[in-house]
Amino acid sequence: MIKDTIYQKLPNFFQNALISAFNFIAYRKRYGAKYLYYREIFKNNENLSLKDLQLIQKQKFSHLIQYAIKNSPFYHNKIASIPSVTSLDLIERLPIITKEEIRKNIGDIYTIPKRKGLISKTGGTTGKSLEILFSIDNIKERFAMIENFRSQSGYQLGKKTAWFSGKNLLTSKDLKKNIFWKTDYLYKVRYYSTFHVKKKYLEYYINDLIEYKPEYFVGFPSTIYEIAKYGIDNNIDFPKNIVKAIFPTAETITKSTRELIETYFKTQMYDQYASSEGAPFIFECKNKNMHLELQSGVFEVLDDDDNPSMEGRLVVTSFTTYGTPLIRYDIGDRIELSDTTCTCNNKNPIVKQILGRIDDYIYSSETGKINLGNISNTLKGVNGIVKFQVIQKQLDKIVVKVVVDKEQYSEKHQKQFLKNWVDRVGKSMKIDLEFVDDIPVANSGKFRMVKNHIKHLID
Ligand SMILES: [Zn+2]
Repeated sequence: MIKDTIYQKLPNFFQNALISAFNFIAYRKRYGAKYLYYREIFKNNENLSLKDLQLIQKQKFSHLIQYAIKNSPFYHNKIASIPSVTSLDLIERLPIITKEEIRKNIGDIYTIPKRKGLISKTGGTTGKSLEILFSIDNIKERFAMIENFRSQSGYQLGKKTAWFSGKNLLTSKDLKKNIFWKTDYLYKVRYYSTFHVKKKYLEYYINDLIEYKPEYFVGFPSTIYEIAKYGIDNNIDFPKNIVKAIFPTAETITKSTRELIETYFKTQMYDQYASSEGAPFIFECKNKNMHLELQSGVFEVLDDDDNPSMEGRLVVTSFTTYGTPLIRYDIGDRIELSDTTCTCNNKNPIVKQILGRIDDYIYSSETGKINLGNISNTLKGVNGIVKFQVIQKQLDKIVVKVVVDKEQYSEKHQKQFLKNWVDRVGKSMKIDLEFVDDIPVANSGKFRMVKNHIKHLID
């Protein structure tokens, strides 16, 4: 983010000021007249019928395809000769593109020079990163959509916000003073570290949150969860009417995580699905339903034979990545669609659940792939497990690292937990429980519930 060596040596006041200055520059790229233009559009379109939303989607699709054929050599070669290629109804004629294909051909995919866009690096579990180039116009459109969603809970830039994300801005001096945050006073955003979420520090986080009184939380739910859990376990009451809404990012949230966070902070969480690649958005409404935002792209849910399905892998076409067109892109997530409708004013179709990364699974030769949703359900009927991480390095063995709350955890709960695992992975899998004091987060600052090191052994 900021040149590390210089930043580390500055006094705290200047570090905070530098963060404000950095944000000022970053925000200038996001906001401005074109941003307001997009905000207006999305605000006005909030009550459109499904039919009208689908019409917009068709037009945007057609526009994107024409643009990609004209400006991206890769797509020109790949799809220009397909009959009726711009028709959304015939999207299955277009090839599905994998992340690896995008990576290999990236030079031919870009439609604008690097200096004219903004680069977003995506991590990915293979460690190889992919550089998606966004046009400035698309950045504005994306932020307009996100902020329109957040504004439904009253949020806007400049409202006091606590941010929990993967940037490590702290110095050793801060740590000595038990300060785990930096503040952008210009925009009233306090950035809390997600790298120091340890029991001995959590009291400082809570006390500071109570004192700072942020109206909104944005960021990794795993960090927010740890703080809430600590507050509950130590009878630290979090005052009512402070937090108006929490917007989790980047990680999949489980039902129990959500309940605990909402209860402790006495507020509501509104989830979103997005990705650094620039995938189209899925936003949660007041009724707690996740709506596909058809104005942001096309969502296809496909089974293993690439046929449309209610549950399966998500293939996206994004209307906000003109710099790096993503057309029928296999993003690596699984979702399940819902066959019901929502009673809120948003008429976009709804999703039953987002099942998370396809990469996040355990493999059992007896029962096959066990996905993230099923893995988190091993906590059903179990009390006293604060968090766990499952690591697979062999086909026939998993290691489950567990952090327990000794006052609640008992043999009964252990039996249930193990039974839940056996129900999912079968009897022949060796399960090693390993009790630890803490499970560190990944380099990105995110918590990963699953670490699978044997993917190369499975199809
Ligand atoms: Zn709704």
